[in-house]
Amino acid sequence: MTTAKPSGPIPPEFAQQLPVEAWIERAGGTPLFVYDLAIVAARIARLRAALPAGVDLHYAIKANPLPDLLAAAAPLVDGFDIASVGELGRALGVMAPDRISFAGPGKRDEELDAAIRAGVTLNLESEGEAARALAIADRLAIRPRLAVRVNPDFELRGSGMRMGGRASPFGIDAARVPALVKQLIAAGADWRGFHIFAGSQSLDTAAIAETQAQTLGLAARLAEAIGAGPPLVNLGGGFGIPYFAGDTPVDVEAIGQALGEQLDRRDAALAGSRFAIELGRWLVGEAGVYLTRVIDRKESGGETFLIVDGGLNHHLAASGNFGTVVRRNYPVAVASRRDAPVDEVATIVGPLCTPLDRLADKVALPTAQVGDVIAIFASGAYGPTASPSAFLGHAPARELLIGS
Ligand SMILES: *Cc1c(COP(=O)(O)O)cnc(C)c1O
Repeated sequence: MTTAKPSGPIPPEFAQQLPVEAWIERAGGTPLFVYDLAIVAARIARLRAALPAGVDLHYAIKANPLPDLLAAAAPLVDGFDIASVGELGRALGVMAPDRISFAGPGKRDEELDAAIRAGVTLNLESEGEAARALAIADRLAIRPRLAVRVNPDFELRGSGMRMGGRASPFGIDAARVPALVKQLIAAGADWRGFHIFAGSQSLDTAAIAETQAQTLGLAARLAEAIGAGPPLVNLGGGFGIPYFAGDTPVDVEAIGQALGEQLDRRDAALAGSRFAIELGRWLVGEAGVYLTRVIDRKESGGETFLIVDGGLNHHLAASGNFGTVVRRNYPVAVASRRDAPVDEVATIVGPLCTPLDRLADKVALPTAQVGDVIAIFASGAYGPTASPSAFLGHAPARELLIGS
């Protein structure tokens, strides 16, 4: 048997035998993403219990914008963060406009127009965008809700995706923020505060707490320079989830505790502010599983390949081509043989004609045959909507929400 490479930790909620054939039948076939709302709701409840009073919880819907999931999650969180006019349409159906905020560089005039008409908060990403938003609001004769996204002068340590501390297309360099906010206030806009997002996918509890402290410090300095307190300080998020062997979860209770202490001694300039944490992946990532059926098995060069009916066209992240430098294995199982002994090493590939289409590389599994179902766990965030579904023209993956 070839030497196996490790795979990531299976979330405890999926440790047991799963009714995968029943889910597949309900959805009409494979490949299929299944998301368990009960897991999402439990996550939200756990985080709310951990967060201090005065801290709202927002869901960054780009992590998983499935309409059924948005409808079910909306009453459980305080707001949605969106990043396009398409997401605006999905969010408006289920969330009050004054609880929606719209970030993202390169908002088009039509997007600014739609957001201002709807009454959502725009997180402004540049001075140019601010000028266009003010002009559009003026033409519409609507007082716009405008917050400023700050490019912080620090970054979240241990972050998979760094979004601060250097030249960046995201946000406005901290030093230039006070002048812009004063201009917004002078123009009569409803200034909503700051959006400060320093990174994503960090598993380093201490680093997250330290970044929150730095974020509060920066918000206080900016508020003093402006001479007005921000109604809301969106502290970003960045809580990661374990994907790979050796990854350990963040300690949200410790983060909540640290944040409570930081808020208790915050600067007077932030005395009247509310705060928000915005999370995507941490809320939904571990609640999802990707199910794909074995179409063929073959031997080549002494190795076993399982060829399955779904691949990077549905699940780019599991193939290692979305935000990772070195390809490592997601948590994986033969879902139809959970109790069988582990007796072979196999590589699981999708049906696309590219060597990139590899869902698991040399993993130790029970022997799987044609017709067996492979489960890739930790697949609830950045799945179908973060994958090149048009590549090679296969049908899109099915998606099923359970636990509601
Ligand atoms: C992508 C994004 C998020 C969500 O990040 P996760 O890693 O999924 O929690 C939150 N805020 C902003 C501004 C983002 O761009």
